[in-house]
Amino acid sequence: MSAPEAPAAGGLDEFGQIAQLFRPLTKGAPEALGLLDDAAVIPSRPGFDLIVTKDAMVEGVHFLPGEAPDLIARKLLRVNLSDLAAKGAEPYGYFLATAWTPSFGWAERQAFAEGLRLDGEAYGLTLLGGDTVATPGPLTLSLTMLGWTPSGAMIRRGGARAGDLLCVSGVIGDGWLGLMAARGELADPDGYLARRYRLPSPRVELREALRKYASAAADVSDGLIADAGHIAEASGLAVDIDLDRLPLSAAARRWLEAQNDRVEALRALASGGDDYEVVCTAAPEAAAA
Ligand code: ADP
Ligand code: MG
Repeated sequence: MSAPEAPAAGGLDEFGQIAQLFRPLTKGAPEALGLLDDAAVIPSRPGFDLIVTKDAMVEGVHFLPGEAPDLIARKLLRVNLSDLAAKGAEPYGYFLATAWTPSFGWAERQAFAEGLRLDGEAYGLTLLGGDTVATPGPLTLSLTMLGWTPSGAMIRRGGARAGDLLCVSGVIGDGWLGLMAARGELADPDGYLARRYRLPSPRVELREALRKYASAAADVSDGLIADAGHIAEASGLAVDIDLDRLPLSAAARRWLEAQNDRVEALRALASGGDDYEVVCTAAPEAAAA
C-alpha cells in the first residue's frame, strides 16, 4: 500500500471524499457501480452511437485564479456539452479527473460538487467515474463526456458541400470581450459580458435540427474564423465570412462603435473564442429551417 494520493480534507480520506462529493452525482446509475469499482460498465445501446469528447481546464489558463468553485464546475460541464451539441448528440454522462491543490480545500470541493449537481440536473447528466490526484498547482480538471446519437448520425466537420451557407447559432464575441471584462480590463456596467465568459450556454437544444439540416458543424471555442476554417479544411473547401453580418449582442455592438478600426475590431470579435455557439453549414434551401 502506498500513501494516499490526495491529502485529507474535511477529515476524510480520498475514498471518503469521493463518496461524499461524487457518489450522489451518479444518481444511483447502475453503470457507475456506486463509484466503488475500478471502472464503469456501459452496456451497448442498439441503434445508437456513443459520442465521446474531452475538455480539460487549467486555473490561470481557462479560468481566472480564484474563480468561484461552482462556476468552474459548471463551465467544465458546459464546454464539453458544447462539443456534444455541435455533434448533434444527446448528453448522457461524464468521467471526471480532479487534480486538487492544497488551497482548494473541503469547502471549495463541496462547492465544486454542488456546481456539478446543479448543471448535471439541468442537462440530464450522470457522473460515471473519474480519478482523483493531488497537485501543488495550478488546479487542473479534465472531463470526458459521453452522449448518444442515432447510429451514423453524428455531424462531422468534413461534410460541407460547395454552395452551402455558413450559419452560427447565436452572437459572437461576447466570450472574448467577457474575458477582458472579467479581468477588469473592459467596462461592463451590468456584468453581462463577464457572465457570458464565466458561464456559457451550450446549444444542446439544437441537436435535432442540426442532425436534420446541417451538413457539417463545430462548436465555436477557438473563434468563429478558426472553427469555420476547421469545417472548411475538413471538407476540402474555402469559406467566405461576411463580417458585416456577424451576429452581435448589444454589449458587443456598443464596444464595436467605440473602436477606430471597424474591420479590425470585427475580425477580433470573430477570432476571440469562448463563444460556445455552434457554427454549421447547410444547403441554402435548408438554412432558413
Ligand atoms: P485508481 O484506479 O486511480 O486507484 P480508484 O479505483 O481508487 O482509482 O477509484 C475509485 C472509484 O472512485 C472509481 O469508481 C472511480 O471512478 C471513482 N472516482 C475517483 N475519483 C473520481 C472523481 N474525481 N470523480 C468521479 N469519480 C471518481
Ligand atoms: Mg482502481
